[in-house]
Amino acid sequence: MPLVSPSDPGRDDVSVNPVFTREPVRIPRNRLPDGELDPDTAYQVVHDELMLDGNARLNLATFVTTWMEPQAQRLMGESFDKNMIDKDEYPRTAELEQRCVRMLADLWHAPDPDHLSLIHIDRPNIVMGVDVQVCWEKFANYWEVEARLVPMEGERFHLTAAEVAAYCDENTIGVVVILGSTFDGSYEPVADICAVLDALQHEHGWDIPVHVDGASGAMIAPFCDPDLVWDFRLPRVASINTSGHKYGLVYPGVGWVVWRDVDALPADLVFKVNYLGGEMPTFALNFSRPGAQVIAQYYNFLRLGFDGYRRVQLYCREVASSLADRIEGLGAVSYTHL
Ligand SMILES: *Cc1c(COP(=O)(O)O)cnc(C)c1O
Repeated sequence: MPLVSPSDPGRDDVSVNPVFTREPVRIPRNRLPDGELDPDTAYQVVHDELMLDGNARLNLATFVTTWMEPQAQRLMGESFDKNMIDKDEYPRTAELEQRCVRMLADLWHAPDPDHLSLIHIDRPNIVMGVDVQVCWEKFANYWEVEARLVPMEGERFHLTAAEVAAYCDENTIGVVVILGSTFDGSYEPVADICAVLDALQHEHGWDIPVHVDGASGAMIAPFCDPDLVWDFRLPRVASINTSGHKYGLVYPGVGWVVWRDVDALPADLVFKVNYLGGEMPTFALNFSRPGAQVIAQYYNFLRLGFDGYRRVQLYCREVASSLADRIEGLGAVSYTHL
């Protein structure tokens, strides 16, 4: 029996009999148990409790990966013990990570070094649509940057160039443009927004860079809409992120961010640490991280290639559009009332 019971959510100690041939055990839920448990019993208790979770294969309400090939799972199982921050101990994992980054930079048309730098400003603001994911509001709060959220109106569910122009000023450190709005999946018009920012620069001298939040779309557009110009082909795009665990098709937790060139990533954000025998640059808020997801990402890149990703993404889009059409056909909910 699992440690939760819907009828009795408040009990501190629960008596369980996870393995029928053994003595039942009492297990505290909210404090560290006093003694040890046999590993089979501990396994069974945790396993049984997790049976009450949803079944990932049946989860249609997420765009995070819920299935990977058995070969990818095997590789992940073989590499759960690797800490990818320890690049001296695990140089091959570090190399696969670098290859993934170079593959993404190439996919997103990163140029040879160009010059774009973020300006230093005392009362900085950042402009984005209210459809941004909560991570951007966190960013603004933690870094004391004013979040200028452009509201949605009527049938418009994402940011457009006209609004961007009205919300920017000399203290704007960047505009976040979403490729794949979390509201409805639509692409915000990156090229139009860049053009408006070009005009602002011409008029006022403000050189405002663009970050593309391609959490979902940066792994869709290159394959399904190759003619759409949204990436580093636009000189104003300074950085792009994507979630490896969304349409990168890897189990949760891996994300990627690529800067256009070294100048676009301020050097004082990159720390050099001396760790276990070598000096290495580190840029992230957390330090130790699992290597298995990176290895699984590399497996997928190798396994699927451009054609494979294109096949999967086109098929996903077909399924999504067809489901959307049919749901609309039911007539029960109209899109504008969502
Ligand atoms: C999912 C998503 C995020 C957050 O990314 P995680 O990979 O879930 O951390 C940010 N922005 C957009 C547009 C998203 O779709």
